[in-house]
Amino acid sequence: MTAENGSVPDEGEVVTYERRGPVAVVTMNRPDYRNAQNSVMTYSLDAAFQKAVADDEVKVVVLAGSGEHFSAGHDIGTPGRDHHVRYDNAAVMWWDHVDRPGGDQRFARESEVYLGMCRRWREMPKPTIAMVQGACIAGALMLAWSCDLIVASQDAFFSDPVVRMGIPGVEYFAHPWMLGPRRAKEVLFTGDRFGAAQAYEWGMVNRVVPREDLESETFALAEKISTMPQFGLALTKRAVNQCEDLMGMRAGMDAVFGLHHFAHAHNAEVGADSLGGMTAKSMKASATEKDGAK
Ligand code: ZN
Repeated sequence: MTAENGSVPDEGEVVTYERRGPVAVVTMNRPDYRNAQNSVMTYSLDAAFQKAVADDEVKVVVLAGSGEHFSAGHDIGTPGRDHHVRYDNAAVMWWDHVDRPGGDQRFARESEVYLGMCRRWREMPKPTIAMVQGACIAGALMLAWSCDLIVASQDAFFSDPVVRMGIPGVEYFAHPWMLGPRRAKEVLFTGDRFGAAQAYEWGMVNRVVPREDLESETFALAEKISTMPQFGLALTKRAVNQCEDLMGMRAGMDAVFGLHHFAHAHNAEVGADSLGGMTAKSMKASATEKDGAK
């Protein structure tokens, strides 16, 4: 890693790794920022997942978020936002984004850090379970959706509000496959939050449990899966993923990634920046105004 501006604070371990018998627990650890994902978190997650894959004793991986919320999405405004920091590409064969101008920079960075990484994690040869409490917003949906199963607490809520930025959804555009086309449109058109019960009804999550049971229920499920043969699980995961891709998900995402970047470029051309002038604060404020949530 190379800091270009030297102003990114050292926050210690932004991802923790723990083994509980056959289960590896990978935890996002920026609770003060609702686990907003900066690049150091992306690469720390990747390192943790690689460790879990390489450990023969690990059968199942649980992805968690520390604190009150799973994750508020991509880091668009904390002091640790590190989008001008260089990391070694791991997800795609492309040049580094840092010294590039305009769309060249955005395309390089988002191909690597967002779309490429989520795809890479989805293809991890061990079953993964997202354990979701509280907020799971925008870029956080990408993480949860990259996992094979999702267990949510009753207080979990989800949304992809980036249409407010003039952008047609987050980079890992799985919405139509995760929600169904018509619900995907409603979720995107309104930017509204939907709760765990709604997500369950739509088939987006596997279980909804009380907050106090979230951990025990998730680990019970992980333990159950861990009794299956490792290679059988890997082949089964691949089988379902291949069918999902035959249902057009991979090709659809590639096509939409172009629209996503066209929207960023349009914003940068006509306005202040590629996010349509929206900040973490204004995004949160407009969501609060819209649905009365806190
Ligand atoms: Zn983007």
